Amino acid sequence: PLVGRRAVVTGSTSGIGLGIARALAGAGAEVVLNSFTDAEADHALAREMGAEFGVAASYRRADMARAEDCRALVAGGCDILVNNAGVQHVAPIDSFPPEAWDRIIAINLSSAFHTIAAALPGMRERGWGRVVNVASAHGLTASPYKSAYVAAKHGLVGLTKTAALETAGQGITANAICPGYVLTPLVEAQIPDQMAAHGMDRETVIREVMLARQPSRQFATVDQIGGTAVFLCSEAAAQVTGTTISVDGGWTAL
Ligand code: NAD
Repeated sequence: PLVGRRAVVTGSTSGIGLGIARALAGAGAEVVLNSFTDAEADHALAREMGAEFGVAASYRRADMARAEDCRALVAGGCDILVNNAGVQHVAPIDSFPPEAWDRIIAINLSSAFHTIAAALPGMRERGWGRVVNVASAHGLTASPYKSAYVAAKHGLVGLTKTAALETAGQGITANAICPGYVLTPLVEAQIPDQMAAHGMDRETVIREVMLARQPSRQFATVDQIGGTAVFLCSEAAAQVTGTTISVDGGWTAL
């Protein structure tokens, strides 16, 4: 259903971004993968994805901390823009390093402003576009010690609503996906340490420690986030705009 659409997914060489890119490729879209590196492995990943799904796929380096890079990434056309790149830093507000604050706001929030600004004119010309912003349960609720991340993700939800209003009725939608805890390679890698630290087995540490705030006590998966993104890009979702879809096992219902 997405044949003929070109998708740019920021921060897509691992985790959720990779899952979304694979789901979009699976639905027939051309995909542009991105990260801030320029390794042979990045280009190989794109080649393999293209071959697996029979779509055009490429990799473009762009540092989402830099406004010019963000805008250059979507130059050349983009029907589906997925703003996924994100970083975290955990510290109390009174000792939160200002550089870490600035970097998180730049990568998790300002990058989406720049990519959307650069993508909208082409979407308007073609009369079709999908903006999918990967926010978080922390775009709707807070946790202590994550001030910059929570502020950036709430800001991203606000930017999503504004983009939706400015494009309403133009064949373009803008929405945010708000994942709870997702089982990415990064999260998977923390499980052994948590098991050792708490003296618990894998299932117990997942249920009692890692997913304490997720009522389902189950991780969301990158495939589920990918499926949500594909839905938002479908014609069924043409009137879904300016909103959030939580994929969080009930976190935000609490
Ligand atoms: P991840 O670390 O696997 O992926 C983050 C991606 O962003 C990586 O591919 C990385 O290369 C890229 N990135 C980081 N800095 C960048 C920069 N300066 N320029 C370009 N790319 C950059 O983490 P993930 O868990 O897959 O997270 C993806 C998104 O999902 C983030 O926005 C994150 O906040 C959000 N999220 C994750 C979870 C979770 O539980 N994993 C939950 C809610 C929201």
